[in-house]
Amino acid sequence: MPPEPPPPAPLGLLAELTHRCPLRCPYCSNPLSLARASSELSADEWGRVFEEAAALGVLQLHLSGGEPAARRDLAAIVAHAARAGLYSNLITSGVTLDAARLESLVRAGLDHVQLSVQDAEADSADRIGGLAGAHARKLEFAALVTASGLPLTLNAVVHRQNLERLPALIDLALRLGAGRLEVAHVQYHGWALRNRDALLPSRAQLDAATATVAAARESLRGRLVIDYVTPDYHARRPKACMGGWGRAVLVVTPAGRALPCHAAEGLPGFDFPDVRAMPLRRIWTESAAFRRFRGTGWMPEPCRGCDRRERDWGGCRCQAHALTGDAAATDPACALSPHHALLDLAVREAMAAPDDAAFRYREMRAR
Ligand code: SF4
Ligand code: SF4
Repeated sequence: MPPEPPPPAPLGLLAELTHRCPLRCPYCSNPLSLARASSELSADEWGRVFEEAAALGVLQLHLSGGEPAARRDLAAIVAHAARAGLYSNLITSGVTLDAARLESLVRAGLDHVQLSVQDAEADSADRIGGLAGAHARKLEFAALVTASGLPLTLNAVVHRQNLERLPALIDLALRLGAGRLEVAHVQYHGWALRNRDALLPSRAQLDAATATVAAARESLRGRLVIDYVTPDYHARRPKACMGGWGRAVLVVTPAGRALPCHAAEGLPGFDFPDVRAMPLRRIWTESAAFRRFRGTGWMPEPCRGCDRRERDWGGCRCQAHALTGDAAATDPACALSPHHALLDLAVREAMAAPDDAAFRYREMRAR
């Protein structure tokens, strides 16, 4: 079957400005080997990438990391985004940004802030993030954001060791003046896979959380929008990971590699294109890496003959590789996958671990 033509443009560009971060979350989505500061794209190189993204049709830019504020030239990068006409969203842990730096970002044209919290209670939040005092600094930063007039989204990654405080996280979002709360269950790649036994929730915890979100969406309609990213390990069918490979999102790593998904750099056998060497439009439309799992032509059975194949696109390639060793396999999150029993086994193993199991924290091991 010929490769599927690319969608006209990705909806969003995720720009990972750096892997440096003062926190050490045990579910961090950064790769196990982190990019050195000396390999990072310069502000002007990011500016060229943003211009190319805008010309391609991208509207939304997510400035991420690591912690993007670890870049001293963050305001210059935001200014490039504004000049390119992109709507810019800063995804930050908030622990190193003070009023003066926030003001410089507002002046540079920043449009939105997404602030992560590790829990609703300071002691637990600081333990999960691996940095004492971080939670208190986040609360101070949230107050600065709302005072500046920027819209604020709160992001909470949830798991077995903080899920019981989901109602308190919803209250926290309201108290901080967030217009949106993203409740995202851990996705088990990279560092999170190493901590799976400590993080995986029970079925009962998951069901309680899902009910809490449903009730809050109803009672807070018009006050708080709640996005809910469900976990795969209790699922019968997978999610359309990143909206499908090479369909909705383009990720650029700190060192300038273009990826269809932030976890894809760990997949073997790929030569992901370099934005310093290839224009973004060619990367999106022509590169072998973006075409490899685009559409349905690559699919094995049971996906090939399945009526959901253009809804979930066969699930997550990184999860398929992590659990089966084959990135082209059906995502084991699907009950029709011959590997689905691996997830049941993982849940049983995790439930045997204590509820407060110690974490293996993210380390800054540079490659
Ligand atoms: S998940 Fe935690 S450690 Fe990883 S980049 Fe975000 S704040 Fe830093
Ligand atoms: S068989 Fe493939 S396409 Fe069908 S539901 Fe499972 S993962 Fe999705």
